[in-house]
Amino acid sequence: MLIKKCEKCGDKISWLKVFISIMSGFTNIKCDKCQTEYYIISSYRLIIVVSVSFPLFLRNQILKILSPQFYSILAILWLIFMLSLSPFLLRTYVKKH
Ligand SMILES: [Zn+2]
Repeated sequence: MLIKKCEKCGDKISWLKVFISIMSGFTNIKCDKCQTEYYIISSYRLIIVVSVSFPLFLRNQILKILSPQFYSILAILWLIFMLSLSPFLLRTYVKKH
């Protein structure tokens, strides 16, 4: 799955590569071909962390209308859904030397 192209060599940067970066704490993404390093814009880290943990913020409100079991299922589904979407939300930049 293609997320974006490398700005320098046009090689593809895959979903998996970006996903691994997110899961390992937003590490830099490196192009396989030309070794260009992509840094993650810090505000996007926040956007992703907030959107992934969104059900936690609304926990009390949700538990007023749903059972705890149902809430857990929803929260897990939300987590999987948002994590798989997160590579598409992420924006990166190249550090100029
Ligand atoms: Zn490249």
